[in-house]
Amino acid sequence: MTLSAETLPPRPAVHWAVRMNRRNRTVFYPLLLLAVGSHLLATGAPVWAWGLLVLNYLVFPQVAYAFAARAADPLRCEKYNMDADIVLFGFWSAALGFPLWIAFTLCAAGCLNMVVFHGPRGGWRLLAGLAAGAALAALFAPLSWRPETDLRTSVLCMLSIALYLFAFASDGFRRAMAQHEAHLQLREQFEKIRSLQAQLREQALRDPLTGLFNRRQLGTVLSQGRAGGVPLALLLIDIDHFKQINDTHGHAAGDAVLQATAQLLLHHARPSDLACRIGGEEFVLLLEGATAAQAVQRAQQLREDFAALRVAADGAEVRATLSCGVACCPEHAARPDALLACADRALYSAKDTGRNQVRTPAAAAA
Ligand code: GH3
Ligand code: MG
Ligand code: MG
Repeated sequence: MTLSAETLPPRPAVHWAVRMNRRNRTVFYPLLLLAVGSHLLATGAPVWAWGLLVLNYLVFPQVAYAFAARAADPLRCEKYNMDADIVLFGFWSAALGFPLWIAFTLCAAGCLNMVVFHGPRGGWRLLAGLAAGAALAALFAPLSWRPETDLRTSVLCMLSIALYLFAFASDGFRRAMAQHEAHLQLREQFEKIRSLQAQLREQALRDPLTGLFNRRQLGTVLSQGRAGGVPLALLLIDIDHFKQINDTHGHAAGDAVLQATAQLLLHHARPSDLACRIGGEEFVLLLEGATAAQAVQRAQQLREDFAALRVAADGAEVRATLSCGVACCPEHAARPDALLACADRALYSAKDTGRNQVRTPAAAAA
């Protein structure tokens, strides 16, 4: 198979640090070349010094980039490149006799790079690199002290460092804005996930057909016990002969009756009550603070209202009745989690003795 541009795997993007330093060197090094070159001109430097200058400020940036862009660990390689920058800064500063403007420009730019990539300890790395560069220069000629530069060189140094700072700050600004944008997007996604989680939690507690709470939520509430000894009543409601509704009018009509029953329960429920669908046509209304007598009264009202209900479905007005078992804490059960079984016995009795009625365990036993 021949490899064409389409079949070649995409080249991995060059590391941002490598790209950034290439850009900074591309801008800064020609300016340094001018500044240091101006000083060489003013001091009548030998030809080899010009050669070194061209090598350092025009060739080195390309070599450094080529190495870092191809390295297995580009960031590490780029850090070595930056060390080389500093050693060469130290070399030039020392070799030229520490001209103040040139030495300051090189040190300030080097310091910025070192601290950005290594943190405060980059300062030590800077000093070590500069010292190594000075030692290198000392190998060629004894160190001397010639701090002056002419006006042209000083202005070029100022221009170089100002432009370098500008490029660095612009990059920092772009990076900070991108980070801010990413942070906003993350926050938005986090909020979406949180709301989806809340939705899922809510759905896990709800019956999808009627929207009422399901058996699981009823179990949770009953297992939590009674707050401060307040009475608690449970109405277990079962639609009478519901199967016939399905058989006569169809399953959709049955569903409509279940939904209408749920609406009626919600209509009867107070804010502290809990309305649930716990099975096919079985519902529970949990009444907080209701005594047995109050619960029976409310169950009777519910039964009457349900009997009067007409549900439009299957081109007809479907009607039904319900039976209800009522059990209360503490009259019929010591603990809320025993209420459902008590109410179930009462409901069985209601069914057994003719349906369309409300029974309590006491009445059931009688
Ligand atoms: P009883 O008076 O003894 O309670 O008789 P019933 O017909 O109401 O009770 P049974 O348990 O015999 O029948 C309940 C029916 O409810 C059977 C089942 O197909 C139906 N059912 C269960 N869940 C649903 C549902 O979600 N939608 C519909 N339409 N029907 C359902
Ligand atoms: Mg049933
Ligand atoms: Mg039934």
